[in-house]
Amino acid sequence: MRSPIPDYLLEVLDACGADAGAVADYIPELAAADPDRFGICVATVDGAVYAAGDADVEFTIQSMSKPFTYALALADRGVDEMDERVGVEPSGEAFNEISLDPETGRPRNAMINAGALLTHSLVDGEDADARSQRVLAGFSRFAGRDLVVDEDASSSEFASAHRNLGMAHLLKASGVLECDPVDVVEGYTRQCSITVSCRDLAMMAATLANAGTHPLTHERLLSRPVVRQVMSVMMTCGMYDAAGDWMTDVGIPAKSGVSGGVIGALPGQVGIAVFSPRLDTHGSSVRGVRVFERLSGDMGMHLMDVAQEGRSALRGSYVSEGEDPVTVYEMQGDLRFAGAETVVRAIAAADHSTTRVALDLTRVYRLHDVGRRMLLECVRRLELDGRDVLVIDPERTLPPAGSADGGLHVVDSLDEFVAAGEAPGPATG
Ligand code: GLN
Repeated sequence: MRSPIPDYLLEVLDACGADAGAVADYIPELAAADPDRFGICVATVDGAVYAAGDADVEFTIQSMSKPFTYALALADRGVDEMDERVGVEPSGEAFNEISLDPETGRPRNAMINAGALLTHSLVDGEDADARSQRVLAGFSRFAGRDLVVDEDASSSEFASAHRNLGMAHLLKASGVLECDPVDVVEGYTRQCSITVSCRDLAMMAATLANAGTHPLTHERLLSRPVVRQVMSVMMTCGMYDAAGDWMTDVGIPAKSGVSGGVIGALPGQVGIAVFSPRLDTHGSSVRGVRVFERLSGDMGMHLMDVAQEGRSALRGSYVSEGEDPVTVYEMQGDLRFAGAETVVRAIAAADHSTTRVALDLTRVYRLHDVGRRMLLECVRRLELDGRDVLVIDPERTLPPAGSADGGLHVVDSLDEFVAAGEAPGPATG
């Protein structure tokens, strides 16, 4: 069978292709872009990639670089230090507004130029060159291939970067920028001139959606707390002065750039990139915004339209056959509070007919810390009630980190346990 997804993406391009808006012209190289280009790429967190239209056409990354540089600076400095230096409040202003928080002198967030300039300066590197290299190497790993800087685009933007230079000098004057303001604008302009395609951007966004692990190379590139911070700021500030409309209409953490790209990262699901150069008054691609509105509606991608995790966490329960039967609770999926609560509720309400009770985590692929604490407490209470508790957990998901089996009776499968004719011993930890 041929997958229907690429056909669906072509349909979306077709439906969202009406002309509107104008290509950015304040950067000479951007004014020369072909306004009719239109491409899309969707990459899932497990590495499937779907593309349609001009998905391999390259363009400069522009402001879509901001969340990734923010991620690198967060990884280098830590979330706490970054919070002291760059705010996390939506500014409600245009991307190039010359504004700093009057009380703290800090830029309001890392998605507007003022914050992005400061963020660029906070990436590790002893000088401007080293910072630029760190950014290019970092982006290349997010994309999964070696990216390059479009030097012509970079010098053409730098030659007329008076507004960004003004902002950098203001950051310096207010004492928040440590390095040379001209160096920072040059480095930031190079960062904005890194060349990417929709395919690259979809992989970069999918790395965020996949909590920091690249879906194809499987390299862990960012920690979960860093990704959470980046996605939160994308959600609240990524679409500048259209952030509220974006949240209600689309509900996907996103970032646009004046070259005409829009990226979105839907946690746990997909990275999306759309490219078409004509822009609206906020500086975001007109067709790009339309495509996101359409995808969000058609594919149920709004972040507030959440999965009913609790309903699917407990796959079922049964009593095994044989001489020494075991009551088995089978769990599945990503267990957080709501999921673990349904399991705990079922166990608490049960009137067990067997001495042995097993928690089967074979199909649990992620156990959030709250889920772990709740299940461990369940084990403890079942044991206090005089049950022998068995944990079926081939991946060792339940034992707390650093403790082999954490005093639990862990087996790879119920069959293995029955075949061994083993009787569960009391917990030792
Ligand atoms: N390089 C551009 C600038 O600083 C990026 C702006 C954008 O894409 N919104 O003006």
